[in-house]
Amino acid sequence: MVVAGNEIRPGRRAKIELPLARLMSGTPVALPLIINHGRRAGPTIWLSAAIHGDEVVGVEIIRQVTAELDPKTMAGTVIAAPVVNVHGFNTGDRYFPDRRDLNRSFPGSSRGSLAARVARIMMTEVIKRCELGIDLHSGSDHRINLPQIRADLDDTATREMARVFGAPVAIHAKVRDGSLRQAATEAGATVLLYEAGEAHRFDDLSVEVGVAGVRNVIASLGIADPATRADPGDVVLARRTKWARAARSGVLHLDVRLGASVEPGSQLASIYDTYGKRLSRIRAGSAGLVIGHTQRPLVNRGDAVIHLADTS
Ligand SMILES: [Zn+2]
Repeated sequence: MVVAGNEIRPGRRAKIELPLARLMSGTPVALPLIINHGRRAGPTIWLSAAIHGDEVVGVEIIRQVTAELDPKTMAGTVIAAPVVNVHGFNTGDRYFPDRRDLNRSFPGSSRGSLAARVARIMMTEVIKRCELGIDLHSGSDHRINLPQIRADLDDTATREMARVFGAPVAIHAKVRDGSLRQAATEAGATVLLYEAGEAHRFDDLSVEVGVAGVRNVIASLGIADPATRADPGDVVLARRTKWARAARSGVLHLDVRLGASVEPGSQLASIYDTYGKRLSRIRAGSAGLVIGHTQRPLVNRGDAVIHLADTS
């Protein structure tokens, strides 16, 4: 195979720097790719992380997964893009320097904004070669997520892969305009979006579930037989999610943890004033699974506090 002018023979691993742009100082900026091109024919898949530059859990997942791949024994190809938003990654920002969201800039164009140009290169050199991809994300805006897959669960192949991945919950999610998932789906690929943990941080659970999930998908496609393979547990499939919001402004105390199952009326959180008096309790409106929550201890009335997947 030839990627951006680099020939990669079957059975070889290549590290490629895709030229993207130059910094204002003139320094070249490149998108790193790790390509494991199997000796035998098989499916081609991609792994992408840090499309939002501050979401680094996926960078570590890709490091662990690619380290154990051996192209000499593989049937198929894994193209890993551990840092898609190179600019944001270097500055710890979710967005591009002009505040554009790369995940709203797909499929991109060669004459558009910087984000659109990066999206276009990612589409041409990576996504269009692949029949399946896993895009790795984390919670934004001081929120933390339970490891979860977001995907089109109405599509049989996608739903099956969400089960194979084995994260504790898979949520049906419509594609968003301009997202990598939408552009890749329209290009004919099956796409899983993995959401786990929080921006700027690694956490063991998010990394472990993500590494196991990617290994499970690679194994189920017959690309490689990982040294260790976790048995996917039961995956809760959810159609809807809902944020429980603060009814008062004040100091927040959470009463549930990520992954907790709650009943209608369960107390999720309390809000206190600065004198220590309880102002409000936040309760679950229906049965659900806690899939995310804010990490901010101070809230305004109306702030999203607890994210519940509806399991009723
Ligand atoms: Zn993201």
